[in-house]
This record gives sequence, structure tokens and C-alpha cells, in this order.
Amino acid sequence: MSGVEQFNKTVTAMPEIQNEVAFDSEFIRSVRSDQNHTLKITLRFCFQQINPDQVQGQIMRSLAQHAGVTPPADGRNVGMHADYDRAVKFIKDWTSAEWLSFIGKVRAQAALWNNKFWLIPPDDFAYFDVTEGNWVNKSGKTVTRLNLKCEFELEITQYPPYAHRTIQVVNLIGTDFRSDDSHYDSEDPTPVNYSYADIRGTVVPTTQPTVAHEIGHAIGLPHIGVTRGLSQCQLAVMWGKNIHESSLPALYKGGEGSLACYGQFAGAGDINNIMGAGATFEPENARPWLDRIFLHLRLNQFEMGKALMSMSKWRVSLTPPCP
Ligand SMILES: [Zn+2]
Repeated sequence: MSGVEQFNKTVTAMPEIQNEVAFDSEFIRSVRSDQNHTLKITLRFCFQQINPDQVQGQIMRSLAQHAGVTPPADGRNVGMHADYDRAVKFIKDWTSAEWLSFIGKVRAQAALWNNKFWLIPPDDFAYFDVTEGNWVNKSGKTVTRLNLKCEFELEITQYPPYAHRTIQVVNLIGTDFRSDDSHYDSEDPTPVNYSYADIRGTVVPTTQPTVAHEIGHAIGLPHIGVTRGLSQCQLAVMWGKNIHESSLPALYKGGEGSLACYGQFAGAGDINNIMGAGATFEPENARPWLDRIFLHLRLNQFEMGKALMSMSKWRVSLTPPCP
């Protein structure tokens, strides 16, 4: 097997349409048998503040009061902003302390994806082997099959053309702003409690770091029900394409975004997953790294075909295996 130069060190991607899955990756090849290779995914977000209109900010304070919303005591501007459901919510100016706190919590949740998975190649995948000379027996060589450590970094940039995604963030007064892929609110980095029922009707309480879940989507992961082919979720996806939402039971509304696809009425392990309603990382969540390996291999068509065919034989470890 002719392995050594057959790697692309970096693979970069930029979204062609808004919210398309795009990220960069770097393959850090180990030359030592006692150290795993590393595949690092880098996702760049540009966060932009949405602040109230400066001219109307003070008038809006009294409007908020009339609507029964308490404006901030420090006299700063208030405004209104529509959420994903086009419901208009009251917002306030960002202070630099609040913004720093928001960014800090986002970074902490992004870091949950770092060093979570190790990929173990199958027996017939020799591209990651490291060959070392044997200094005791100079004619001999040692071949070691190295595993791959999965790293993740969220880079935050001020420059939108350089970002994989630009996200506008409102500083909410109150709660209940419905966020989406490119609009967050100040409450989003606060973990959310859910209590979904499993297949036996037992309530499974979970706490989800919402930003970490959204990062999962941004690197290409669908909801756990889609990944695991859960039957209720499959029904929701099928019905979502064929039946008008208003006539569907709540469990199935929203297709891939339905409660069924978050794991409701499936197993506790489905509900608990980071791509369900919980915070648990499992082997399926390593998919973005596993898929990406193949973009880092510089192989001819035949060898690439062979490598892709053995893809299902890769194993994912949640603890560091020996190299
Ligand atoms: Zn989701």
C-alpha cells in the first residue's frame, strides 16, 4: 500500500447558499506509532448583535411598559424584533459584558464536541499505517495502524465573508423567542430542560445545551431519529412530504424537525442524545469526521472505491484507544 503522500492536509469549504453545511478540516498526520492521527473540524461563525433602533429606543421603552414588559432599569434602548414564527418580541441593547458572556457560553458549548470521538479504521484500511525502522533489528520494520482523534474548534470571526455562517443575535427581554439557524437570542446558550416520554410512556428528563445541538446541525448531523431511522420519525418525514401539517398529530408535525425525530416515544438513549433532546454524545455523532476522512485521502478511483466500501466497518470509540 502506497500511503505516505496520499493525504490532503487541509480541506476548506464555503457555503454556496445560506445555511448550507460547510466547514474546514485539517488532517494532522502522526509520524509516531505512539500518537494517533488527528482530524480537526473547524467551523467559523460570525455573530452579529441586533440592537434596537437608536431613534425610537426610548419611545419603545414606554411601549414595552404598556405591553406589560419591564424594560431594563439602566435606561438603555428597547426595540422589537420578529422571531422565526414572525411573532414580535421585545429586545434591548447589548452591553459589552452581556455580549462577552454570550460568546463565552457559546464557546463552552462548542467545546463539548472537541475530543469526543476516536475513529478506528477497519483491518483492510492501511492508509493510516505508520512504518518505523527497527533499531534493534535493522532489517526489520514495525507497522502500526494508527487511529484518528476527532477534534473540533468553533472559530468566531468578525468578518462575514470569512464565516461559514453568520448569526444575528438579539438581546431578549423575557423569553420565548423562536430561534433558527441564523438568528439566535441571548437565552440560547442557557441549557433547556425537556421531558419527553419514551416508548413505554416513561418520562425521560433531559437538559440540552442548545448551541451544541445547533452546532451538530451545522456540521451536517440531522436529528437522532433520522440518523437511527426511528420508525415514528420515518413516519413524520414521510407524512411531512405528503400530508398537510394541520391534519397531523403533534408528534409528527415538522418532518425531520418533529418531536418524533428528537426521539419522543422512542428509547431513552434516543431522547438523551445531543441530536435528540439531551446532551449525550454517541458513536453516530462522529459521522461528520468519518465522512470527512475520505476528502483527505488522495487516492485513485479504484482505491477510493475500495476505501468507501469499507466505510461501514469503521468503529468509533468514545474513549481514547491505544494508537
Ligand atoms: Zn435540531
